[in-house]
Amino acid sequence: MPERVESESRKLLGRLRNALAESSEGQARLDKVVELIASSMRTEVCSIYLFRDAETLELCATEGLQAEAVHQTRLRLTEGLVGRTARERRVINTADAPNARGFRYMAETGEERYSSFCGIPIQRLGDALGVLVVQSKAAREFSPDEVYALEVVAMVIAEMTELGAFVGEGAALSARHTQPHLFRGSIAQEGASEGHVFLHEPRVVVTNPISDDPDIELARLRDGVETLRVGLDDLLSGNANTDAEQKKVFESYRMFANSRSWLRRMEADVENGLSAEAAVEKEQSLARARLSAAGDAYMRERLSDLDDLSNRLLRILTGQGANTGELPDNPILVARNIGPGELLEYGKALKGIVLEEGSVGSHATIVARAWAIPLVINAKGITREALNGDNILVDGDQGIVHLRPDDDVQKAFKDKIAMQTRAQERYASIREMPAETKDGTIISLQMNAGLMADLPSLDGSGAEGVGLFRTELQFLVRNQMPKRGELSALYTRVLDAANGKPVAFRTLDIGSDKVLPYMKANDEPNPAMGWRAIRVGLDKPGVLRMQLQALIRAANGGPLSVMFPFIAQYDEFKQAKSEMDKAMDREKILGHPLPSKLRVGAMLETPSLAFAPDAFFEEVDFISVGGNDLKQFFFAADRENERVRKRYDTLNPAFLLFLQGVVERCKRYGTQLSFCGEDAGRPVEALCFAAIGFRTLSMRPASVGPVKHLLRRVDLTEVRDIIDGSIAAGDPSVRRAVADWLVYQV
Ligand code: PEP
Ligand code: MG
Repeated sequence: MPERVESESRKLLGRLRNALAESSEGQARLDKVVELIASSMRTEVCSIYLFRDAETLELCATEGLQAEAVHQTRLRLTEGLVGRTARERRVINTADAPNARGFRYMAETGEERYSSFCGIPIQRLGDALGVLVVQSKAAREFSPDEVYALEVVAMVIAEMTELGAFVGEGAALSARHTQPHLFRGSIAQEGASEGHVFLHEPRVVVTNPISDDPDIELARLRDGVETLRVGLDDLLSGNANTDAEQKKVFESYRMFANSRSWLRRMEADVENGLSAEAAVEKEQSLARARLSAAGDAYMRERLSDLDDLSNRLLRILTGQGANTGELPDNPILVARNIGPGELLEYGKALKGIVLEEGSVGSHATIVARAWAIPLVINAKGITREALNGDNILVDGDQGIVHLRPDDDVQKAFKDKIAMQTRAQERYASIREMPAETKDGTIISLQMNAGLMADLPSLDGSGAEGVGLFRTELQFLVRNQMPKRGELSALYTRVLDAANGKPVAFRTLDIGSDKVLPYMKANDEPNPAMGWRAIRVGLDKPGVLRMQLQALIRAANGGPLSVMFPFIAQYDEFKQAKSEMDKAMDREKILGHPLPSKLRVGAMLETPSLAFAPDAFFEEVDFISVGGNDLKQFFFAADRENERVRKRYDTLNPAFLLFLQGVVERCKRYGTQLSFCGEDAGRPVEALCFAAIGFRTLSMRPASVGPVKHLLRRVDLTEVRDIIDGSIAAGDPSVRRAVADWLVYQV
């Protein structure tokens, strides 16, 4: 960087700082900024365009264009060189603007007289805020040094915009993060809730983009980077449990942290007048802009590593961003994504969850469903817009989120919540009644659980027992492998809380998206079809054996039901059962009482098991269909991939006919059968499963009421006729036929 421009840029920032410090009104500040830039850069025109909404840029201040155009001239993202700068998020620098691609003449600004144009995106952490433009009559390209100086200034403008420095009355700007916002996402868990935003990763706010003393800032930056490096070294050397994949990530972080060019670029920014934080953010914004444009998967990964690294550095420099763990009233968790373990750490205090990514089939979603907490996924952009403590309404029924809602929306929402409360009261009134259909068929409704905290719902929901107890959730919430004594104490408490109602314990199902922090993870290309569940249990039987012993001890001479997850072939069941037999023998020798009645079951989660030999159906005490996994393997559609998951409906005739085949085989051998995937808790699905012969359904507790309510109103033989008719008609799903019929029944 030549000495002259360095000092020019620093001088300009110094003047800007003084101008901004004057406690003037937002518009006056903006006017001062464009005036200063135009005079420092010796250009006739300097303008600032800021986003009015996601699609519209508004001329907010200008030196050189006609003053009347301010707050009047608006451009769509698709319009003009300004729109193109914002859209492409890169500098556009041309000596011949009228002939550049995208040029649009705007009479009201009188800009036809200007030949050269340089547009710089104003962005903060990848979030496009507007465009800074300089123009001059002379046909010349702006030099790289001038462009650099403008980029530094744009960075400061971005920070000041974020901080609300340009907020003003009337036609001027309204503060960011204050307007109501509506996000349309996808439904992952129904229900409505109202509360306050709690960000999983709070935003970092930079209050001092311009440095007072470059030497001090340089020292701060270098200290920060050093702290970052030491932290990464500690992470790499100190944590023996870190798995290979995580190590790889940290190593790549360390590589960036030690990269001279990364540091040198930030040092140059600081020397040119930015504060340490603003310099880090400038680098981060560039990385984010490149990230959104990068097609190559490897590049994307590295850029997102760099992004994460910058976040760490920003947190070190500002001391902000660490979650204090203090939840606001009625906390609604807002996150890019979250794993089941992290979600469990927050606990049931959450009133709602909104994710930018997420998926309906993930285990985090299953946890939210078990807790009956409204969950909206795919709410794009919400982590950028929401601030901790903001008012927020989550409409899980429609997949809509209202951030900072206005009074009308808030009122309508309250009505909706009241209606839901009335529905809950209706369900409570049938809690003690059986789920008996009009034709006299009784369906046993059970609930899924995984934590002690779920057990109180057993009475509240009216479920007859726990049809699926996911034991891995207990493992996920810990930092180390539980001991046998702890497990048996825990299972004893579960059985005590069930108070004589049956509980089907499913042995550990880890792998896929359920990764235990203290177990060595395997680097597998496709974990859902990888080394998981019973495959781990049989290959490394230590934990399975401990778990089986703990379960036998917890039964303490009473009845015990255990099922093995992900059994794909008869032989796996035989081996698992023989582990159970051995555990019984061992416990007997040790003098512990054996269960009065032991039921050993298998989960049918892969299509292969439906075609197992007859002997399997004779030998197994019960089969529970794990529809979540079964469906993903039946249709070859990843349960966590929203794009493909939605293509295939559960009520697709092929899937129903397949399930019916399982029902028939179980009937032939008197094998007890239940369905415990999430679909069992959806009223229309539950109805169809009952109509094709399922007599036990296990679901999240909040679904028991609505499912029972519907079952009690229908005649299953009629449902069966509708299903058969729809299949015969070649419908892609029987859903519509059944739903249409239901309209006249209930
Ligand atoms: C299933 O796959 O349907 C199931 C109940 O197991 P999980 O969702 O825990 O994989
Ligand atoms: Mg499963």
